[in-house]
Amino acid sequence: MTRKKITIAIDGYSSSGKSTMARELARRIGYVYVDSGAMYRAVTLYALRHGMIAPDGAIDSRGLADALPEISIKFSAPDAATGVCHTLLDGEDVESEIRGMDVSNHVSPVSAIPEVRHRLTALQQELGENKGIVMDGRDIGTTVFPRAEMKVFVDASPEVRAGRRYKELTEKGIKADYADVLKNIEQRDFTDRNRKESPLRQAEDAHVLDNDHMTRDEQMQWLLNLYESITTK
Ligand code: C5P
Repeated sequence: MTRKKITIAIDGYSSSGKSTMARELARRIGYVYVDSGAMYRAVTLYALRHGMIAPDGAIDSRGLADALPEISIKFSAPDAATGVCHTLLDGEDVESEIRGMDVSNHVSPVSAIPEVRHRLTALQQELGENKGIVMDGRDIGTTVFPRAEMKVFVDASPEVRAGRRYKELTEKGIKADYADVLKNIEQRDFTDRNRKESPLRQAEDAHVLDNDHMTRDEQMQWLLNLYESITTK
């Protein structure tokens, strides 16, 4: 049976586990996976490196908007061992650096800049032109692919999410403090939900996956069932 190729949008809060499940879903069904948050993180790293973010957090939005056409953000081929596609900023592998607290602390205000959103939305839409894609983020089902056939909104409590992020960072050898991680998650939730441009919200036609009490296997089964039901209709 040939299944129809669709677009899958997975949105939700920071550290809700969406990237891991989106990547795994894409691998299982042979789709391309794109981590849109990594693209916002890469732009934030660019701004930090070019002195566009002052010590008090103020962003040179004009300078960053002007630089956007020159910034190249791409993904590597999947890493042979982990299957993860690394984020490339102007050709440099910045996968590890964009996950650190410095970038995490500034990424939400950078993501609220309309020019940044317009540029990255256009890039994301190009990547999804041929369908057969799983993309995760905050506005994929609402702004980037409003006509996606499968939309999922992932929810989990801030404490559970902070616990996951803390574990992920320490496992990677990145030093972190649980209280700082929780604070960062709560701040990002607030900024992401309250920004003017494409705020984080659940699309009306999204299926909600509340994963506080679900194992990874249960979540994957839930996603695969939904995918089956949509593509065999
Ligand atoms: O998914 P991740 O936590 O890596 O995303 C980092 C940040 O990028 C989010 O907190 C949010 O501010 C921003 N983001 C966004 N829109 C997306 C994906 C991420 O604004 N589609």
